[in-house]
Amino acid sequence: MRTSVKLKTEVLSSRVLAVLVVILVGCHDAGDESREAVVAGNSMAPSFWGDHVRAKCDQCRYSFQVAGEQAGLPSQLVCPNCGHRSVDSATAQPQPAQRVRVRPCRVVKGKLEIDRWDVVAVRASDDRPAMIKRVIGLPGESIQFVDGDVFADGRLVRKPPHIAEATRIPVFDSAYSSADVLRRFVPRKPSADHSEGRSWSIRDGMWSYSPTSTGETRWLAYEQWRCVSSSLPKDHVVSVEDWYEANVNVNRNLNRVRDIWARIEFLAAEECQVDVAVTVGQKRLVYEIDFGGGRVLFEGGSVSFRGDGSSLVNGARGRTQPLRIDVCTFDRQLTMRINGVGLLAVDLPLSDGSAQALPAIEIGGGETPLVMTRFRLWRDIHYFDHGAKNGSDGGTRLVAGPNEYLLVGDNMPVSVDSRHWPVPAVSGNDILGTIDNKK
Ligand SMILES: [Zn+2]
Repeated sequence: MRTSVKLKTEVLSSRVLAVLVVILVGCHDAGDESREAVVAGNSMAPSFWGDHVRAKCDQCRYSFQVAGEQAGLPSQLVCPNCGHRSVDSATAQPQPAQRVRVRPCRVVKGKLEIDRWDVVAVRASDDRPAMIKRVIGLPGESIQFVDGDVFADGRLVRKPPHIAEATRIPVFDSAYSSADVLRRFVPRKPSADHSEGRSWSIRDGMWSYSPTSTGETRWLAYEQWRCVSSSLPKDHVVSVEDWYEANVNVNRNLNRVRDIWARIEFLAAEECQVDVAVTVGQKRLVYEIDFGGGRVLFEGGSVSFRGDGSSLVNGARGRTQPLRIDVCTFDRQLTMRINGVGLLAVDLPLSDGSAQALPAIEIGGGETPLVMTRFRLWRDIHYFDHGAKNGSDGGTRLVAGPNEYLLVGDNMPVSVDSRHWPVPAVSGNDILGTIDNKK
């Protein structure tokens, strides 16, 4: 049997709408109630893509996706990875809209089995196609956005790790590299008057560290550039902001984003030492990682990560091997992972509203050599109210009744959702099913 569903996404302006309307049609297999659907709108980008184009930077080779059709693009695009400002949009390739499966929700004890952060397909109130959005509010809840985060009934709600990973938005990847990209890492001057030269240097297209005779930690700072069309110089240093590479035609003020996720990959000896500093608001927090001793020193405490012979570090002693450190500040929690194993989670205070000190991420070399093979940075979705003035705290409270859900699109600047609808909440009866979060 074949069934078909029409789904739509709503977006802010009619001009964008014309490009972004989503039509989902599908059939289901025997014994499987799910339906295949085609995403045609980009209010869920970059998690789900409707019609879009893919462009490639001719400087750093980074490939990126832009909502809409080629005809609607400016002639030159800005590379969101390296800031190169003249990527020829004529070379961009149209991409088909993504196909997804819509699975009807199970009903357990009279309740729909829908969790916060699920992506759902929703029947529209008239004959317009259905839409896909992410669930942020559950039945009976009152939702507010505060400084980019979601609060339910006054309490911060955090994304589980797999949702944080599925929704994080790429900001920078040094694997797509050019001489310019490497300039975004800046060796800090030593604090004392030692002048034996830089201990961080570029070798073979990567930042390498050689210990200095003083043994003093030497810092390499990552500097964020505003990789958007701008009258400022390309290398003007800014905080991470809530830019979407999808939205080249959307003019708006960007919000500063404090929720960042850095992944630093090294080649180093097993016994190496490396420090990582992350600045949250005005506070600079330092991890001192001693791979040889299997310990991390942090804020006066220490955590062991070798312990019972875990496979965190499993190469032969002394041999150079790949090591990976993740530092994440999503949802007011600072977490750190070494080779994928979570070690420390520290709650972060509410923002005091002051400007963030820069840089946000620094890497410190100590007494052992290091080669940084890759540095990646993502940011969290920055939630804000409709109508909030260049900020996130409009103070609006969205309320869901019994069997009602509050929904937003991941592409916050263009999505039309519970923030805009006259009746913000959607009845569970209008939810057609869930869609797998992207991996
Ligand atoms: Zn580039």
